Amino acid sequence: PVVTRFAPSPTGFLHIGGARTALFNWLFARHHGGKALLRIEDTDRKRSTQEAIDAILDGLSWLGLDYDEDPVFQSERADRHAEVAHKLLEAGHAYKCFATPEELEAMRAEQRANKQPMRYDGRWRDRDASEAPDSAPYTVRLKTPSEGEATIADAVQGNVSVRNEELDDYIILRADGTPTYMLAAVVDDHDMGVTHVIRGDDHLNNAFRQLPIYHAMEQIEGDWPEPVYAHVPLIHGSDGAKLSKRHGALGAEAYRDEFGILPEALFNYLLRLGWGHGDREEITRAEAIELFDLSGVGKSPSRFDMKKLENLNGHYIRESDDARLAQLVGERIESDVDLGLLEQAMPVLKTRAKNLNELADGAGFLFARRPLAMTDKAAKLLDADGRARLRAVSDALAGENDWTSEALEATTKSLAERLELGLGKLAQPMRAALTGTTTSPGIFDVLVLLGREESLARIDAQAE
Ligand code: GLU
Repeated sequence: PVVTRFAPSPTGFLHIGGARTALFNWLFARHHGGKALLRIEDTDRKRSTQEAIDAILDGLSWLGLDYDEDPVFQSERADRHAEVAHKLLEAGHAYKCFATPEELEAMRAEQRANKQPMRYDGRWRDRDASEAPDSAPYTVRLKTPSEGEATIADAVQGNVSVRNEELDDYIILRADGTPTYMLAAVVDDHDMGVTHVIRGDDHLNNAFRQLPIYHAMEQIEGDWPEPVYAHVPLIHGSDGAKLSKRHGALGAEAYRDEFGILPEALFNYLLRLGWGHGDREEITRAEAIELFDLSGVGKSPSRFDMKKLENLNGHYIRESDDARLAQLVGERIESDVDLGLLEQAMPVLKTRAKNLNELADGAGFLFARRPLAMTDKAAKLLDADGRARLRAVSDALAGENDWTSEALEATTKSLAERLELGLGKLAQPMRAALTGTTTSPGIFDVLVLLGREESLARIDAQAE
């Protein structure tokens, strides 16, 4: 059975790259009817915060990514990590290194001076611990293979090889007995039964360093199979540079709170960012589960494009249930909101909106109080001519018994004909008086939504 995991370090929010990694892992597990697991890699106690953990959990649940077990906190498993380190040590797959920090610094300085790659030179690999001074502190280093080549059949990158001499004997247990990330991740993946490691390709090098732990433990106790690796290219900004804050490398909650993006839109967008199924753009959650596979993940970095995200968002806004939209938009409007009215207005408000902020702006007129604040453009329409026309409109509409969009349109049109004016000459000052702006849904829809009393009051407030 397939088991995947998302393993964020809680040192910041759930940024867009992490969210996509989470999504791919989740979809792969769901597609195969397997398990999706979550592991919080909080071993860096200084940089990990509860706030970041909460933001990550919140972002995942907002995107609708659910997990089959409670999250594993890596920091709680340090004893188990150390236990594995000691097994490796006892079996001779790891060794104690007594080199002092000063000694290692001198080694690196020399390598730097000789323009050699900086890596541990294995000085304690073949020495016996008895050569060290009594009770001297030591680190535990993995004895990595020094000859030959290692190859990973990566599900995204294809076959990737590295010469083993390029891998140094890295530290798995620090002098204070705490495990390093490299060891902890492997032990946790093994113990959690992870079969597929799907993560950013910035971790590809780590895979080569982590595999020897699997191999050594397989020899020692068996049942430590290598996972399948899938290293996904990172997300770049629209200018091709690595994604930074400037490009939108923000937390998922910023897309929700600041940009007014719906979770299903971000879900769909992140899916399409690096994964494709023909040229399909709009893919629902159910379809994504049915279609997702690692062979559809591209090998080159994808570019983050806010316009595309907003276009998808507009699509999902139009698809969305109006009561739900009213709820979401209502939270964005400062004045008292009548949710029923907002819901009623949704069909006309949502036809063009690309995000919830635009919807909230568009809905503003519904809850504005008299006297309405006017934009400069709207105020200009309310000159003497405009105000005179509003008087005529008010008189005509006051006699209207049938307050429907069709009837109001017919009445206004016949007034325009009588005055020998284009309909726009009436509609523009009406819009200004009714909404305080020059952009709004169709003016007859506006009249219906505001109702007879409020509409006439707003028109009269500006009429001559
Ligand atoms: N905690 C690592 C990160 O946030 C992930 C490591 C992994 O997926 O193996 O980048």
